[in-house]
Amino acid sequence: MKNKRDKGCFIILITILMMSISALNASAAVMPLCIKDDEGRIHINKSDLHKQEDKVVFLTFDDGPSHLNTERILNLLVKNEIKASFFIIGKNAENNKTVMKKMMDNNMAIYPHCYEHDYSKIYRSRENYIKDFEKCVNVIRDISPSYNARFMRMPGGSDNTISKRGVLSSIKSSISDKGYTIVDWNIDSRDTFAQKVSSEVIKRSVIKGSDGISIAVVLFHDAEAKITTAEALQDIIDYYKENNYKFKTFNEITLKEKSKMIEMRIINKAAV
Ligand SMILES: [Zn+2]
Repeated sequence: MKNKRDKGCFIILITILMMSISALNASAAVMPLCIKDDEGRIHINKSDLHKQEDKVVFLTFDDGPSHLNTERILNLLVKNEIKASFFIIGKNAENNKTVMKKMMDNNMAIYPHCYEHDYSKIYRSRENYIKDFEKCVNVIRDISPSYNARFMRMPGGSDNTISKRGVLSSIKSSISDKGYTIVDWNIDSRDTFAQKVSSEVIKRSVIKGSDGISIAVVLFHDAEAKITTAEALQDIIDYYKENNYKFKTFNEITLKEKSKMIEMRIINKAAV
């Protein structure tokens, strides 16, 4: 009798233990998203929702296209099945129409930067700037008549100190009135900090700048001499892939990303 009672107690204990473990597992499974308050109401754990937010990277290349270097960059992007954004110089596009067509055929996003990249000329007046900008847009339209993207990047960035404040703000107003979104960046690859920047420095600048960033807009340059930019690219792409970033162009931007980027002062940066 004694043995039977002990055996019964043992079975009950094991059952209770197993039920407790399974309850613990169940609560652990729902913990990341839901919290129950003292009155039994369920709340969404917003900090954990935030952790699950998609990370996104926009690789951007200014000043191209160039004859050979764009090809190097393009080949890597195609090999990795990702798209990037190219803010082009109209004059370079006229001189490299075959490269431009190849970029378009591979669904890269092409946006206007300027026609001549002559700071002293374009930033002298609003009229000069807009004339140069429209010339660039017309070059893109000549190559691709259906072109209608409405994103652009200003040479030197939208808060450059080249032109007088009043001139700069009237340039920005005119661009916005034409329906364009002005794009800056939050990660500088530093590939223009010297005549030749090593690919290691470019790689380190991008990786260091991306730490803890959920929306990364990376500034690179595409010119014939920027070979090290192309050399650093595969390791940079690998870094973003390993860290679960989604590669996007501005043509694919969501409203949520856009408002976050305004908040982060990456696009349509207001004067301070
Ligand atoms: Zn530029």
